[in-house]
Amino acid sequence: CGVFGVIGVPDASTFVALGLHALQHRGQEAGGIVSYHPDHGFNNARRFGYVRDNFTSAKVIDTLPGPVAIGHVRYATSGSRGPTAIRDVQPFFGEFAMGGAALAHNGNITNANALRRELIERGSIFQSSSDSECIIHLMARSLQRDIPSRMEDALRRVEGAFSIVAMTRTKLIGVRDPLGVRPLVLGRVGDAWVLSSETCALDIIGAEFVREVEPGELVIATAKGVESRFPFRRAKPRFCIFEHVYFSRPDSILGGRSVYETREAIGRELARESPVDADLVCPVPDSGTPAAIGFSLESGIPYAMGIIRNQYVGRTFIEPTEQIRNMGVRLKLNVNRALIKDKRVILVDDSVVRGTTSRKIKEMILDAGAKEVHFRIASPPTAWPCFYGVDTPQREKLLAATMSEEEMRDHLSVDSLKFISLDGLYRAVGETQGRNATCPQYCDACFSGEYPVAPKDMLDQGFEM
Ligand code: 5GP
Ligand code: SF4
Ligand code: MG
Repeated sequence: CGVFGVIGVPDASTFVALGLHALQHRGQEAGGIVSYHPDHGFNNARRFGYVRDNFTSAKVIDTLPGPVAIGHVRYATSGSRGPTAIRDVQPFFGEFAMGGAALAHNGNITNANALRRELIERGSIFQSSSDSECIIHLMARSLQRDIPSRMEDALRRVEGAFSIVAMTRTKLIGVRDPLGVRPLVLGRVGDAWVLSSETCALDIIGAEFVREVEPGELVIATAKGVESRFPFRRAKPRFCIFEHVYFSRPDSILGGRSVYETREAIGRELARESPVDADLVCPVPDSGTPAAIGFSLESGIPYAMGIIRNQYVGRTFIEPTEQIRNMGVRLKLNVNRALIKDKRVILVDDSVVRGTTSRKIKEMILDAGAKEVHFRIASPPTAWPCFYGVDTPQREKLLAATMSEEEMRDHLSVDSLKFISLDGLYRAVGETQGRNATCPQYCDACFSGEYPVAPKDMLDQGFEM
């Protein structure tokens, strides 16, 4: 998911709509905005679909007046039960002591079921099935005398990954969990303060990047300035390494590193680790593009757009009928036949999850007359589900959970298949010594199976680590 908030401009919701549009890659399912105006109180709008289709008209934005607003773009993660209902779309707003608060959450709470049971027993009335709503109820029950302190109280009970943007009538609040699994940055435009999942959304409103919110930090922005607190027990940060590989936009800066440059470095590592004689390096667009460029630069094999992506295909277009769904990737990706025919092709993609995409792409490339197909993957085999806010299927459905690299190569029937090593990935994100095995510098649980926070709810449901 993506979160964004602004305080200190007359029409904060306009800025939030633009920010969410720049974060759309973090969630396409739904979006929402909450604002506060002294004369009009809290207002919200929550819709399915793209930001540009819902939040660009004056008809909607005019219903969200005021100098402080927050927003969320949603993508359902493994914790959610079934298809999203509009009541599960964030931000959540709750009226309680001191006027209440609204909140937008990126991440996943790993003890949400346990918290929810306890809160319901004590009388809380839940409006949604979302894990994030627990935080509002915990805040409402806290006895602290100001809302940021209530939020600290609440979050000390919450386990898992959270980057949160929240608001009261007069404050914009940002928090990251102690491990800092998901990103969150602070920006400034004129006299206004901005919080955003990624720096690319600061650029769209002309805000300057001030700094990252630190792991375990809570920041409070008001008309007077920014206050910082560290309410949690300090821990060694474990930022999500997959943000660098896939999730974040390539024009964002994460931990002081350009995401694009990291992806290019991953491609270079891959070319050094798993070279292969071939005629062309082609990305699987768009997620494989920077790594393919790096692979080409390092290997000297020409880069070519052997697969073209239709920019107008969204999820909604893929969904309507069974027949269209079966056409699968063909709707989104097409082979550039003239380039591919009689060539030995290296295909670079960011990850193999179920393997369905790779399999179909290989068929399309062979249909177009390629002589050989070699897959190079910009992440290690995804063998474990993520419980911290990235949507991966159950372990059984992950190709790498049940197959070795050779078995996957045979299953996909390609000439070769190689994944970047975990150490190679760490080198590409700037850890020149590779992964510190006793104390890894990042979260890499989906590759290593080493979960930095025990996924309590999942363990209760029988998940075996
Ligand atoms: P597969 O077909 O192997 O299940 O999916 C692999 C493709 O899904 C890759 O091309 C990658 O870009 C994309 N992908 C990787 N992680 C995610 C994710 O968390 N969500 C979505 N929607 N796509 C992903
Ligand atoms: Fe990121 Fe993977 Fe960790 Fe999830 S399990 S937070 S995707 S590194
Ligand atoms: Mg992809």
